[in-house]
Amino acid sequence: MQTGKINVQTENIFPVIKKFLYSDHEIFLRELISNATDATEKMKALVRSGNADVELGDLTVKVTIDKDAKTLTISDRGIGMSQEEVDKYINQIAFSSAEEFVKKFKDVDGTNIIGHFGLGFYSAFMVSNKVEIFTKTYKKGPGTKAVKWECDGSPNYTMEEAKASDRGTDIVLHIAEDSLEFLEEQRILGILNKYCKFLPVPIEFGEESSWEEVEGSTDKEGKPETKEVKKPRIINNTEPLWKKAPADLKGEDYENFYRELYPMQFEKPLFQIHLNVDYPFNLTGILYFPKVKKNMEVQRDKIQLYSNQVFITDSVENIVPDFLTLLHGVIDSPDIPLNVSRSYLQSDGNVKKISNHISKKVADKLEELFKNDRASFEQKWDDIKVFIQYGALSDEKFYDRAKKIVLFKNQDGQYFTSEEYTEKVKANQTDKHETTIFLYSNDAESQYSYLEKAKERGYDVLMMEGVLDNHFVDFMERKLEKVRFVRVDSESIDKLIEKEEAQVSKLTEDQQKALKPYFEKDLDTKSFNVVFESLSETEEPVMITRPEFMRRMKDMQAMGGSQYSFMGDMPDQYNVVINSNHPMVASLIEDADEAHKETITKQLVDLAKLSQNLLKGKDLANFVKRSVEIIK
Ligand code: ADP
Repeated sequence: MQTGKINVQTENIFPVIKKFLYSDHEIFLRELISNATDATEKMKALVRSGNADVELGDLTVKVTIDKDAKTLTISDRGIGMSQEEVDKYINQIAFSSAEEFVKKFKDVDGTNIIGHFGLGFYSAFMVSNKVEIFTKTYKKGPGTKAVKWECDGSPNYTMEEAKASDRGTDIVLHIAEDSLEFLEEQRILGILNKYCKFLPVPIEFGEESSWEEVEGSTDKEGKPETKEVKKPRIINNTEPLWKKAPADLKGEDYENFYRELYPMQFEKPLFQIHLNVDYPFNLTGILYFPKVKKNMEVQRDKIQLYSNQVFITDSVENIVPDFLTLLHGVIDSPDIPLNVSRSYLQSDGNVKKISNHISKKVADKLEELFKNDRASFEQKWDDIKVFIQYGALSDEKFYDRAKKIVLFKNQDGQYFTSEEYTEKVKANQTDKHETTIFLYSNDAESQYSYLEKAKERGYDVLMMEGVLDNHFVDFMERKLEKVRFVRVDSESIDKLIEKEEAQVSKLTEDQQKALKPYFEKDLDTKSFNVVFESLSETEEPVMITRPEFMRRMKDMQAMGGSQYSFMGDMPDQYNVVINSNHPMVASLIEDADEAHKETITKQLVDLAKLSQNLLKGKDLANFVKRSVEIIK
């Protein structure tokens, strides 16, 4: 027997490992199973390349619990280790890398260590008071006898010859009193399902039962009899879809895999992007576009990050572009650095490249969809609009890639790119400054009368009802040349698109000045601004509009744009537009009956407010009362 002291330079790392390195002690199992999987994959590779002359046989990695002995064992039939190798890999390399890892992260909050990779084999001591390794190398010849290694959590280990005929490694964990949960079947099953669901080597744990027909025997009703059959339970799918060639897959395969990833998600995804990159970094995966729900937040953080099919995390901020965290699916890359903190990730060049690449792939795929099948793209538009707008708003490069496929929908449900739309409305909707006006509405119901008026003029109106449309209108205005967005209710119809031929006013300035106080009486002039405009006689005598600029400022403020906070809490701003060409307004000048004049102006203002749903409470009650008086 060889006894020795693991090469400890500073202090004993075991208590540190045990105490607080990980908030998640459970990951020890992932580390050990990853090692077992690696050893198995290496065995396969050696045989495949003709470098090892062994019968592969069953390569299943087995996890077993012995409650009486309080042990958890992970067994593989991989390459195994000779005594020399145990000494080198376990006593020296693994130990010193664990030691280095501990030193590096001792002072970091455990939850910050993304992926928690790096500690490897020694993470076993988080849950064990003794660990044994039984291993036999696949190699033949002198020095290849089986070895037993044992360590009780102090730096002292023993190593001796063991009896074993088969190659491979058993790691036996003697679970510590404070970690007995790891002897519970359900707990282990949960961990395996979380981290090992897509490992490339079958992982067996416990048994599962199924019901099978008993051949040749029937019950009283003549139906075949069934019996319960117990079979070893394989917990993983060794060939996850993202590793397969896209050309071999059908839509149905992607849908089934989506269900495998999210058993609780009932809605089908809209479509998916299969990522497959091997240069300049290695990345595979599938990203699904889900149907967007009202509450976007609950849909976030569904993307699962893997490294060589080992689950790492499902919180991928800073790895994929922010707007893509709304997508679902899997990203698998051994090139994403996993044992570092989040703040490091943000500045990591590789991560930036990967993130950039994903963003490009998504844009490419969307463009392909648009080009190949415009009708189906339009059909999906309402659902994917928010991703694309979010992407454009948050990532300039994405906008540049996707701008040709950004669509606008008009009130008739037709879709246009900005170029197509400019062509469509240019002739009728260009104002005297040569600016093309994109009229839009954010609520067809409450802006009904404005929409009708626009229609009468032959104007086209875009529907901008989405959660990001406010921002997007602003954004597009900066991107498109000689185009301005104007909401249908922001001006009277004559002023929405200012053309050359302005109407001449029937009221002189003095007459307007004289009338103004009547309209302003009882009006909250902080919010309502009385203006006279020369509109056509057939327009309403008084109407309410919301000036575009003030409304946008207010919208921005409401969305929390801090640069607007200097304005304090802004009141809503409306214009009370008096049509100075309306006969009724003109007749007010001649009206000598003061009381009557007041009643009429109030009534006109209230009607305009009413049509905008702005007449409330006492004002509404007064209006009803006054109306009854007038009818009498
Ligand atoms: P890492 O896996 O990151 O290299 P570990 O500490 O987990 O670090 O393991 C150290 C080394 O021990 C491995 O690189 C491998 O050479 C060896 N090893 C660990 N587990 C096994 C196993 N089940 N079979 C064969 N070799 C193993």
